[in-house]
Amino acid sequence: MADSYPRVMVADDNGNFFDHPELEMLVWDGESLRRPLREELIQLPLGSDLFMLPERSPLAALPGTDDVVELDEGPDGSPLHAVSAFVAPAYVRLYHPAYDTRAGAPDLSLYAYSAVGWMNGRLYVPAVRVDQDKRQDPYRFDIEEVEQKVLQFKLQHPGNQTVKHLEHCALVYHCRAAQNYFLGRWEAPLPAASTCNAACIGCISDQQDINVEAAHSRLSIPSRPDDLIEVAVTHLERVPNGVVSFGQGCEGEPLVQGPVLEATVRGIRERTSAGVVNLNSNASLPKVVARLADAGLDAIRISINSARAPYYERYYRPTGYTLDNVLESAKEMSSRGRYVSLNYFVFPGVSDSPAEIEALCAFIEAGGVQMVQLRNLNIDPELYLRELGEGAVEDPIGVVPFIHTLRARFPKLRFGYFNPPRTRQGRPGPLPGAKLAPVYAS
Ligand code: SF4
Repeated sequence: MADSYPRVMVADDNGNFFDHPELEMLVWDGESLRRPLREELIQLPLGSDLFMLPERSPLAALPGTDDVVELDEGPDGSPLHAVSAFVAPAYVRLYHPAYDTRAGAPDLSLYAYSAVGWMNGRLYVPAVRVDQDKRQDPYRFDIEEVEQKVLQFKLQHPGNQTVKHLEHCALVYHCRAAQNYFLGRWEAPLPAASTCNAACIGCISDQQDINVEAAHSRLSIPSRPDDLIEVAVTHLERVPNGVVSFGQGCEGEPLVQGPVLEATVRGIRERTSAGVVNLNSNASLPKVVARLADAGLDAIRISINSARAPYYERYYRPTGYTLDNVLESAKEMSSRGRYVSLNYFVFPGVSDSPAEIEALCAFIEAGGVQMVQLRNLNIDPELYLRELGEGAVEDPIGVVPFIHTLRARFPKLRFGYFNPPRTRQGRPGPLPGAKLAPVYAS
């Protein structure tokens, strides 16, 4: 008989995944358990992963009811664990998985955990695609082709330390940006910094506190301007509508290397006017940002988890700067007519709380922000809420209504996941989850 609604997924101690024969999927919106709307569910996108959540009991619903059932163990008495999906790039999850954490459970690794269910032979997740750009769609990457291109590049640029670093990123971390550099398309990375003036709880290049590993080891020494210029100019001169970006997952904060960046931006723009020179950053140092803009920087992408100072500071743990300085950096760029986007870490419950939406709208308005890149925050959800503390989650309205509220307030605001090429800057583009608007209105 066909399923009319997704059933809950569970995992055994060995990490084998099963769909429960009867009980139905529940989700957590950061505040309460609920059933996802059928319309909010999409088939699990290609390039997504499934995770077992150790020592977390799946929570499910009796068919057709809201009665919650906790699944501690299987029919043979062995423990059961919750299951989550890590959705592919360009998708934003709408809800967290529903589970109850058992005593002694380990912190979860730095991934963004989405609810997942099984229906008619397929996995379904509550998620929306927020960027139609296919630059990181997995089927577009042939690793053998990447390996060949890396060899070619090493011969063409023998002494270039950045090319050597990107080889590691492309072949070991399978970083799509590094692979795209070697494949000569879309956006290329310019990692520059080995240190940072923040200590994000969920930093993916340097982990001090929580019992999880950083996904990347951070660049050990700052990059050299000549190496960065060579990488950038090679890319921008051969890729139509290309983008090059400082500020990657494998480094610290680029702005702490102000003089290196300024020399690099100036050097690139002395050689080519093609494409976009972009800075992914915590935007902590507005004076440095102003100098980079004057040197020719075209765009900045500012990473924030919250536009409310207490919750920003509890996550970023900044040294020597505040969220006000971050806003100042946005103004330094927008006042010079440069492109400003936010790399906004979406966390269901926090992002879609009315107080957060108000603060975010104020930041967008004051900073002259033209685009919000919606990224899933990679962190153990319960650990994150513990660290943020009281008031971070209050009456969340839902992730899609949150996005639609921003567009209603800023009709020209662009949404996406990737740094846009020059030709798409300034164009609002499609509204993510547009088909869902009538569902929420009803
Ligand atoms: S700003 Fe970036 S590099 Fe610095 S701690 Fe945060 S995530 Fe890590």
